[in-house]
Amino acid sequence: MQNIENKVVVITGASSGLGEATARELSRNGAKLVLGARRLDRLEALAKDIGLDARAVVKTDVTRADDVKALVDRAIELHGRVDVIINNAGVMPQSTLERLRIDEWDQMIDVNIKGVLYGIAAVLPHMTRQKSGQVINVSSVAGHKVGTGGAVYSATKHAVRVISEGLRQEVKPYNIRTTIISPGAVDTELPNSVGEAATAAGIKQFYADMAIPADSFARCVVFAMSQPDNVDINEILYRPTAQAY
Ligand code: NDP
Repeated sequence: MQNIENKVVVITGASSGLGEATARELSRNGAKLVLGARRLDRLEALAKDIGLDARAVVKTDVTRADDVKALVDRAIELHGRVDVIINNAGVMPQSTLERLRIDEWDQMIDVNIKGVLYGIAAVLPHMTRQKSGQVINVSSVAGHKVGTGGAVYSATKHAVRVISEGLRQEVKPYNIRTTIISPGAVDTELPNSVGEAATAAGIKQFYADMAIPADSFARCVVFAMSQPDNVDINEILYRPTAQAY
């Protein structure tokens, strides 16, 4: 695939769902992958499956800036450059604010916002030096709207879009592309992160009714990455055809 083969791509949250599907798709297209998540056993199994060097998977907690830097540093160590980072790791423990599930609010802010910022911090020194690169941040339909139970999650996904647009404007001198991908309901492990029982039941039913496969996301990544270098796909918003909201 044009503009994907041999690109060095770092993916956070590659142990399941969208990250895993994207790793598989980009591997098929000849990218050089470096994958991070906390569940190292899942990353190792994936690496074996797609024929990836065991050194290309790194136990990474994106709430720790040092972990994310070490993940990107591994790409530099193995390949001498980093062409793309996909800041994909995320959690969605939704509940209404009155439930006061403050630990979950903190977790969403730490993973979904700070994790993305740490990914940007880890690649920027390299991409500005290279005068090339692409930062792909994962937002959501929830980055465009808010519903009951989704205040904090939506706030984090709105933040991802704002940070991405700010980054887009700032990196013009460095020839760096910035892409937001905002999916609707996609069949992954994400609903498992909802801890509050009543909300979890509703979300699981919603996903059971309409979620589409994770390769839908991987194809968006391929589309954004495979454009000529002077074409910057800034945002892709997509949903299951059946999804009204
Ligand atoms: P999954 O739950 O299947 O995957 C989430 C990934 O994030 C896992 O690989 C998990 O790995 C990783 N992760 C969670 N916390 C951390 C952490 N602290 N450090 C590192 N990695 C972490 O869900 P999805 O694939 O759906 O989620 C991927 C992204 O897509 C998220 O940002 C989500 O908000 C977004 N999204 C998903 C939609 C959907 O319908 N599925 C819709 C819109 C957006 P591990 O637990 O091993 O660390």
